[in-house]
Amino acid sequence: MGSSYRAAGAFRKRGVISRLSDLIWPPRSLLSDAIVDRPGVIEAGLWSELKFLADPQCACCGFPLPDGGNPRDICGACAGRKPAYDTARAALAYEDHTRRLILDLKRGGRRDGLPVFAKWMSAAAAEQLAKADFVAPAPMHWTRLAARSFNQAAWLAQAVARAGGKPWKPGALTRVKRRKSQAGLSASERRRNVGGAIKAFGSYKGKTVLVVDDVFTTGATLEACARALRKAGAAEVHAVTLARVVRPMDISI
Ligand SMILES: [Zn+2]
Repeated sequence: MGSSYRAAGAFRKRGVISRLSDLIWPPRSLLSDAIVDRPGVIEAGLWSELKFLADPQCACCGFPLPDGGNPRDICGACAGRKPAYDTARAALAYEDHTRRLILDLKRGGRRDGLPVFAKWMSAAAAEQLAKADFVAPAPMHWTRLAARSFNQAAWLAQAVARAGGKPWKPGALTRVKRRKSQAGLSASERRRNVGGAIKAFGSYKGKTVLVVDDVFTTGATLEACARALRKAGAAEVHAVTLARVVRPMDISI
């Protein structure tokens, strides 16, 4: 009691409030209530259950393809209708564990996983991050931002930009229309719902932009971001998300 009181006093004197909170709330695993040795880690047993996305994948949208494909292969959806972005990549397949990571981030405002998420995302889009002039988050409408007080995509974008040593432009894109919930909508309905809702402010002539969001569901939001950036002159628009829906049945986020 005495020593922890002194320790707490020392931390407070140095103003390191987050260290103080570690004494009271020790770091927890990102995926369970297990106490871990440092913030932002996952215990080994659950780590192996995360489904990291890797090649072979659609050269355009990153959708997983059967083994033995060519690195330039594209999926049926992209062959039928080329997306507005050049490429989209994701670190993880969206499933139960990933869902928990995303919900803790977007509903719970849990930030301790950001450095590790940024590491995964910058590995998934290494080529795109290397050539990007800057990193921009998918925007949130101001009324939603006011209600929630943070945009998880902006946090992820800042962490990815930091990991790649690139500038971060949180205001490059703005959501000018509050969209209806996307849950339960088909891909084309989502595209219509988000169409015209996102604008780019400023000129990005000739720039290569990496747009960051938390989840790729149908890609409608990222396409709206890409269209807005291209209108503002961007030469290339790439996207990276923490997770990606890889099965049609998952569209209920
Ligand atoms: Zn594709």
